[in-house]
Amino acid sequence: MPTSDNFELKDVELPPLGDGQVRLRNLWLSVDPYMRGRMNDVKSYVPPFQVGQPMEGGAIGEVVESKAEGFAVGDLVSHMAGWRDEAVVDARTAQTLPDLGAPPEYFLGILGVTGLTAYFGLLDAASAAEGDIVFVSAAAGAVGSAVVQIAKAKGMTVIGSAGGADKCEFVRSLGADEVIDYKAGPVVKSLMAAAPKGIDVYFDNVGGDHLDAALATARQNARFAMCGMIEGYNTGEPTTLRYIMRVVAMRIRMQGFIYTDYMGRLGEFYQDMGAMIASGQVTGRETVMDGLDSTLEAFRGLFTGANTGKMLVRL
Ligand code: NAP
Repeated sequence: MPTSDNFELKDVELPPLGDGQVRLRNLWLSVDPYMRGRMNDVKSYVPPFQVGQPMEGGAIGEVVESKAEGFAVGDLVSHMAGWRDEAVVDARTAQTLPDLGAPPEYFLGILGVTGLTAYFGLLDAASAAEGDIVFVSAAAGAVGSAVVQIAKAKGMTVIGSAGGADKCEFVRSLGADEVIDYKAGPVVKSLMAAAPKGIDVYFDNVGGDHLDAALATARQNARFAMCGMIEGYNTGEPTTLRYIMRVVAMRIRMQGFIYTDYMGRLGEFYQDMGAMIASGQVTGRETVMDGLDSTLEAFRGLFTGANTGKMLVRL
C-alpha cells in the first residue's frame, strides 16, 4: 500500500514557454489503479515512475498561456501532466475537449479512459451482445459502473459485485439485475446463487476469488475481458485459481486488453457513448476530493474502496 513516505509535495519553477507549448492550470486530476503498477521498477506497458521526478496522470487543464497554433487562452484540454496544479506541456501531447455538451470532468471518466476501457472491453474484447449474462467485478468503481450501464443499455443481464451493502445498492441503482457483496461471503457461492444459469461474459477488474468464481460459473463459449486485477496490486501475491481447468471444458476465451488498443476508434466511442449519455441511459458517476494535497489520499482510497464511480481530485 503506498504511504505518504513515498510522496513529496514540492514547489518548482516552471520554464518560460517554448514554441509549440502551452501553460495549463489544472482543474481536475485523475487517480487510477494502474499508477500503483508504475511504482514498481519493472517493464510493463507504461514505463515506471522515476524516483525524484514528478508523478504523471490524466488531467483536465485550462490554457492560461499559449505559443501553440490551435490552442487559445481559456481552452480546456485533456493531457497527462497531472498530480500538479500547473504545467507547461508540448501542445501535441494535449487534446482539446470535443464538444459533446458534457462537463469537463467526464473526459477523465465516462468519456475518458474509464469509459473507453469499459466500452471496448465489454463490446470488443469480450464480444458481449444483447441477451448475454454479464458478470462484472468492482462494479461500483469507475470502469465497473460504466460497464454495468453500457451492458444494460445494450440489452444484457448484469450481475455486479462490490464491497459492502451501500455499494451494492449503488450498483443496483445503475440497473444491475443482481448484486454480490463480496465482503459478505465467498464470491463463488454468491455468484452461483445470483447466476443459476451461469455467465456468458466476465469483465475482470479484480482477479483472485472473483476470477475463480467466474471460471466456476462460465457457460460454454464464455468470453472474459481481462481488464485488471486490483486484488494483487499491493500484495503482488500470485492468484490461486481452483477452477482454471474449466477454460478447457467450457471453451472459455480470455482476452487481455489495454484501452490504448482502441485509440483509433475514439470517434465511434464518442458517437455511441455520447448518444447513451444524451439519452440518460449512461451517466458519469464520481467521487470528488478537493485540493492538490488530497491527491495521495484519493489514490490510496482506490485500494480501500473509498470511491464510488470515478475517483477525481478537483483543484
Ligand atoms: P475503480 O474500480 O474506480 O477503483 C478501484 C475499486 O476496486 C475500489 O473502489 C474497490 O471497490 C475495488 N477494490 C480495491 N481493492 C480490492 C480487492 N482487494 N478486492 C476487490 N475489490 C477491490 O478503479 P478503475 O479505474 O475503474 O479500475 C478498475 C480496474 O480496471 C483496475 O483493475 C484497473 O487496473 C483496470 N483498468 C484497466 C484498464 C485497461 O486498459 N486494461 C484501464 C483502466 C482501468 P470495492 O469497494 O467494491 O472493493
